[in-house]
Amino acid sequence: MASALILSSCSVDNNTQNQKSDNFNWTVDSFADIEVLRYRVNGFEELSLKQKELIYYLSKASIEGRDILFDQNNRWNLPIRRTLEAIYNNYTGDKEEQNFSGLATYLKRVWFANGIHHHYSSDKFAPSFSKDFFVDQLSQLPDSVLPIKDGQTKNEFAEQITTVIFDPTVYPKRLNQAEGEDLVLTSGINFYRDVTQKEVEDYYNSLKNPNDSTPVSYGLNSRVIKRDGKVTEDVWKVGGLYTEAISKIVFWLEKAASVAENDNQKAVIEKLVDYYKTGNLKTFDEYAILWVNDLDSQIDFINGFTESYEDPLGMKATWEALVNFKNVEATKRTEIISSNAQWFEDNSPVDKQFKKETVKGVSAKVITAAILGGDSYPASPLGINLPNSNWIRAEYGSKSVTIDNISEAYEMASQGNGFSEEFVWSDSERELLKNYGLYADNMHTDLHECLGHGSGKLLPGVDPDALKAYGSPLEEARADLFALYYIADKKLVELGIMPNLDAYKAEYYRYMMNGLMTQLTRIEPDKNIEQAHMRNRQTIAKWVLEKANEDKSVELKQRDGKTFVVINDYDKLRNHFAELLIEIQRIKSTGDYEAGKNLIENYGVKVDPLLHQEILARYKSLNLAPYKGFVNPVYTPVTDNDGNITDVTISYDENYEQQMLRYSKEYQNLPAYN
Ligand code: ZN
Repeated sequence: MASALILSSCSVDNNTQNQKSDNFNWTVDSFADIEVLRYRVNGFEELSLKQKELIYYLSKASIEGRDILFDQNNRWNLPIRRTLEAIYNNYTGDKEEQNFSGLATYLKRVWFANGIHHHYSSDKFAPSFSKDFFVDQLSQLPDSVLPIKDGQTKNEFAEQITTVIFDPTVYPKRLNQAEGEDLVLTSGINFYRDVTQKEVEDYYNSLKNPNDSTPVSYGLNSRVIKRDGKVTEDVWKVGGLYTEAISKIVFWLEKAASVAENDNQKAVIEKLVDYYKTGNLKTFDEYAILWVNDLDSQIDFINGFTESYEDPLGMKATWEALVNFKNVEATKRTEIISSNAQWFEDNSPVDKQFKKETVKGVSAKVITAAILGGDSYPASPLGINLPNSNWIRAEYGSKSVTIDNISEAYEMASQGNGFSEEFVWSDSERELLKNYGLYADNMHTDLHECLGHGSGKLLPGVDPDALKAYGSPLEEARADLFALYYIADKKLVELGIMPNLDAYKAEYYRYMMNGLMTQLTRIEPDKNIEQAHMRNRQTIAKWVLEKANEDKSVELKQRDGKTFVVINDYDKLRNHFAELLIEIQRIKSTGDYEAGKNLIENYGVKVDPLLHQEILARYKSLNLAPYKGFVNPVYTPVTDNDGNITDVTISYDENYEQQMLRYSKEYQNLPAYN
């Protein structure tokens, strides 16, 4: 599972990060609530020619699927993106004009979110241009540049697409998780057609065998649709749904296989190709096992239908890609954690019956991202732990990564922005954050990914999907709590991976401040928290704050009309983290849906409106964008007269708009309607 932690904005201690004092331009663009950054692929030039070639092919495979994610997110995303781009590219009027600049901002948001709903909150964007302007622009364009459906008139097309963009009641959310509603019918996601939640659940329950100890990930790679009154699946594969894009992905993967670093990696790529060609979920599991066992290759990648956060039922995966290579030096830290995984499992506070007797193959590494694609682009996770299949994790372990150069870009772009002066209680916490903030945060991500997700077990017979919509936030909470518990352990100092017994306090402070206050900067007024990671963080922080009511280990204090987190006793705070870890592991291990639901609903969803208002106002005064994402570097092969690749160069010149327009042109792989 990917973790998208919000970074603290403390200034970076110059000794903790491999900073180079050059003139790299970290910030590319900003609009609405978004800041677009660049990340630097440190160490690319030092790779061998063959490795560079491999990255080049895999990077092509990572972009070819871009249209898939747009279509998955909502069936109107591709027609709308193409229509907006047609207007944008053909516009000859005044570019400063309010309606045009509003449309340009809206288009930038659509690119960023891979669709018409906010990438994080999942709410549909309110357009910042008038309907009249839009319709007028449409009327000036030739039919040939617009995605008009066969048999449809231009007027019918205009009416339909205008309704989807401008009517707030049409597809109001990409993902609806409101308790008691039909989550399938009310979510804008394009995973289901003409079916109810009950029909989907019945369909998959009829396929599942409760006695199967190695179940496939049912529903992972398909759309469910009702045809002639019968519920069925359209599989995403070569020859199936999305075949045009998947065939191109396969083309580049086959090239990549020809320059693989070793036989294991070659087998991984070939198995993935096999899966894309057949859509067979057994083959996907075989691929996942090969992938998790490939630990020797320096280059690694994710390419496929991976995370199921966007499915209200938690089964169907969005398309995602990431190419990366191991940062050998920084990986020593995570190797130490991994090689002690059993000790951490044995000594955790959770009930013995929920612990793994043997923790297998928790591999962890620090990586440098080389390209982001699909659901990792432009907004990127900071750490990833895969595969998601419970039985594969139990039997073969999982691979866990921390993406170093993405953290580096966040930190470098946020230096000296005033955040910590505004929200941190006093100089002593600021000093902690300055000295240890970035390091402790990276350590938290390492622990979350390589120990947290891999820890614990389900009791026999417990359905891995028992927690339903609450499964994702509870799983993230479990991983976070495991990390929070251990980051304060003297074991880490003994292992030489934490500098002293105080450094963890930086992470405790940051975590509580973020969970109780500053992550609210991402929520619009009067809205609830929807996103799984945010629900998790608030659940932990609020639950702990309530527990601390008696011992006053943590408090919210007022000063000059402003609210601050104050931590009075870090040891006691750690005990509260441990108590919640014990309870959430019990919920997960026993599949206690009611308890899990109550925890998330009581602590993780609702927002204190007054505090929210205050935080938004304070944040606004700093003029910072709450969300960040990235443009990719551009890889260009250099060839000799015979067409052989003799080098691959990397450049960072492309801006956001150039990249998005180029991707839309070069990688327009799907029809507008799928
Ligand atoms: Zn996670």
